[in-house]
Amino acid sequence: MTDPIYETDSAVLSETSDGIAWLTMNRPRYGNAQNSQMTYALDAAIAKANADPAIKVIVLRGAGKHFSAGHDIGSPGRDAHVSFERKSNWHDHVGQPGAEMQYVREMEVYLGMCRRWREGPKPMVAMVQGACIAGGLMLAWVCDLIIASEDARFGDPVLHMGFPGVEYFAHAFELPPRVAREMVLLGEPIGAERAHSLGMVNKVVARDALQAETTRVAARIASMPGFGLTLTRQAFNNTEDLQGKRAAMDMAFGLHHLAHAHNSLTKGDNIAGLSGRDMARLNRSDKA
Ligand code: ZN
Repeated sequence: MTDPIYETDSAVLSETSDGIAWLTMNRPRYGNAQNSQMTYALDAAIAKANADPAIKVIVLRGAGKHFSAGHDIGSPGRDAHVSFERKSNWHDHVGQPGAEMQYVREMEVYLGMCRRWREGPKPMVAMVQGACIAGGLMLAWVCDLIIASEDARFGDPVLHMGFPGVEYFAHAFELPPRVAREMVLLGEPIGAERAHSLGMVNKVVARDALQAETTRVAARIASMPGFGLTLTRQAFNNTEDLQGKRAAMDMAFGLHHLAHAHNSLTKGDNIAGLSGRDMARLNRSDKA
């Protein structure tokens, strides 16, 4: 594995105003594909916003045409094989044998971080335009509210790689179960209007109105009592977990990693030898 070549030193931009932390994924050249550089920067930015008493609500958005095209499986900045200073108390994935390397890495950067972000004290709002695909869904789904533009599309095509969905298996909690099955079995994205009609998205607006509407929603949340926001977030999180969300996700994470190991055994590559370009081609042929 070669060293990653990063196109930016600032994979996440942070700014604050009027009680709102605006966190912007900043890899527009690659559709805000999530490499570890970005994931760890997001974790640090979310932790900082949660620790700042002036902040009431966190908005997650993406620079450029897309919210996030998913996990980085092909840009020059792909860095899945690089050690970072870990945020959980798990050991380093680098150099671990067999299935351990991928399992340990994804427990830290995918399931672990997504859960930490969902369970933080301050509400989060996702502002979504363009692609919100696979790993992009994970970021939108940890947020309390999702505001989308008309061009937004939500999809999980990882069954092409043999996976039963992405690492954060919230599909059947975010969508009616049969639609969730459709999303994974067909690998076809769901448009913003349909996602809104199914309750997965709170509001759909024109692309040029997305920033203003997200600002309005975030400002409204920021006007509420801070501790009340924290308790509300916990009440909903706990309710979902009592309905089985956390346990279902633990089960699916194990199956996801059985698929990683199966890919390694049968294809010699834990993502079945498919690149970002291959996935784009497969998704184009999906539409044909
Ligand atoms: Zn995985």
